[in-house]
Amino acid sequence: MIHAYPLAAVIGYPVAHSRSPRIHRYWLKQNNISGDYTALTVHPDDLAGVMKAMPNMGFCGANITIPHKVSVLALADEISETATRIGAANTIVFQDDGKIYADNTDGYGFIANLKANAPLWKPETGPAIVLGAGGAARAVVVGLLKDGVPEIILANRTKSKAEQFKSEFGAKIKVVEWQDVHKYFSIANLIVNTTSLGMVGQPELNLNFGSLKPETTVTDLVYAPLQTNMLRVADEIGCVTVDGLGMLLHQAVPGFEKWFGLRPVVTDDLRKEVLK
Ligand code: NAP
Repeated sequence: MIHAYPLAAVIGYPVAHSRSPRIHRYWLKQNNISGDYTALTVHPDDLAGVMKAMPNMGFCGANITIPHKVSVLALADEISETATRIGAANTIVFQDDGKIYADNTDGYGFIANLKANAPLWKPETGPAIVLGAGGAARAVVVGLLKDGVPEIILANRTKSKAEQFKSEFGAKIKVVEWQDVHKYFSIANLIVNTTSLGMVGQPELNLNFGSLKPETTVTDLVYAPLQTNMLRVADEIGCVTVDGLGMLLHQAVPGFEKWFGLRPVVTDDLRKEVLK
């Protein structure tokens, strides 16, 4: 079905803080597409009803954010392999046949951001260290495994959650103690912070980065602030560092393409617009 004025939205509870409307509205304007992207505050009890009504209101799809990323899977008719592996969806499409398709583009966004901003990083060259084992870490781990990383050294404050990753994602995951993870920094090809530490209002990520080598690529999912303490230290050592804002921008690309029919481009201008 071709919508004269296609609509998409980010659905969350709360959702006012979301930067997704800025990203998609920028691309709509840049590409002269008449349509809109908005933010919908939807209580968990109302999610099913809202999703049912949206296609009749001109919505082509939506981004799904906290707290609906897992529960939305039960409302989908078709779930991508990636969303199934991650166990959560962030992008849905209302298909012409009336079915709801659910996908997860966070892992794609993570890898695309790294490739754009650390082009010399080669996934197969050595182990990646992943700090944290929450929702975002699932997307990162699935993305890294798909891209051919030989080993993931995983550390989480609550070790049982990291052990759960190992049982789900297999032998390439090596679980280490949170307090010992710095001992592996010297052999890492990539270090990723997926914890909320370092984010505005949260404590700093205070690990011993003394053994970090300049050849290691270091990236943080936190994007407020843009340069976290970990990225600053890594920068001083001479590492290539990649901030988390790019992941947010790149994860939006596949959804926009599915809803509005054109693959948008992540540019410096878009970054500036989102940072305003
Ligand atoms: P989550 O599911 O709540 O997981 C939080 C993680 O942080 C867990 O591993 C948790 O460890 C750890 N953590 C929290 N406080 C800690 C502390 N004091 N010491 C050690 N570890 C601590 O959250 P999430 O959805 O994965 O999000 C994590 C971060 O990623 C957030 O900052 C979020 O904004 C960011 N993010 C960015 C993007 C992007 O596009 N750039 C996308 C998604 C998420 P425990 O398991 O021990 O509690």
